[in-house]
Amino acid sequence: MRKFKTESKKLLDLMINSIYTNREIFLRELISNASDAVDKLYFRSLTDPDVAVGRDDLAITVAFDAEARTVTVSDNGIGMTKDEMDKNLGTIAHSDSYEFKAARAEEAAEAATEGEAEGEPKGLADLTDVDIIGQFGVGFYSAFMVGKKVRVISRAVGSDEAWAWESDGVEGYDMVIAERSEHGTDVIVYLKDDTDEESFGTFATEHGLTSLIKRYSNYVRYPIKMEVTRT
Ligand code: ADP
Ligand code: MG
Repeated sequence: MRKFKTESKKLLDLMINSIYTNREIFLRELISNASDAVDKLYFRSLTDPDVAVGRDDLAITVAFDAEARTVTVSDNGIGMTKDEMDKNLGTIAHSDSYEFKAARAEEAAEAATEGEAEGEPKGLADLTDVDIIGQFGVGFYSAFMVGKKVRVISRAVGSDEAWAWESDGVEGYDMVIAERSEHGTDVIVYLKDDTDEESFGTFATEHGLTSLIKRYSNYVRYPIKMEVTRT
């Protein structure tokens, strides 16, 4: 097993136990990571002739298995190599998406300079929990607020090998070779056992999950498909 770094462990404890009261937000974090991964692939396709993607093929899927008690967020985006998984998921507060988004925002700002003045910069008062957590790159770890175990299966675009990363969010994580038919990522959250609706929210049901997805899909430019396994 590879151990989480001490700072990462502290942050993980802090987040799981105190920052969030709204645990259902994990779904928004995972969907936004899926959306970032698809953005990255699309962006890569504009400059790399080896990467061909059709805008209509890009999608995010959320699957719910009531019996196995898993929620899986899948994308057919850029994926991660073994080293990227180790770096991006093994170190809390490491965000390469932040750099990616900052660079795109800068480009957009440059393109807009000829036009009218831009909006006011965001004041601290406008930042929500989600923004703050997103800024520090700990979004993925919100899955451990609801999951007793999280398994990530990923295959980087251009690679023919897939890897699985798995952790209970306590001490560390394991990585083993895996299979995936195409590039992209599956994040499988094994829901905790003590998940009655009152203390856990409504996402551990098909209906609850569907309404959450509807809400979040307003913020995502790719279609989100829902798959349900019933017993
Ligand atoms: P952030 O999204 O702010 O960068 P996260 O904690 O949500 O922080 O994710 C950490 C990193 O893990 C991301 O920056 C990205 O590199 C990687 N990652 C997470 N989910 C995915 C995914 N579905 N596909 C590819 N990379 C991912
Ligand atoms: Mg994120």
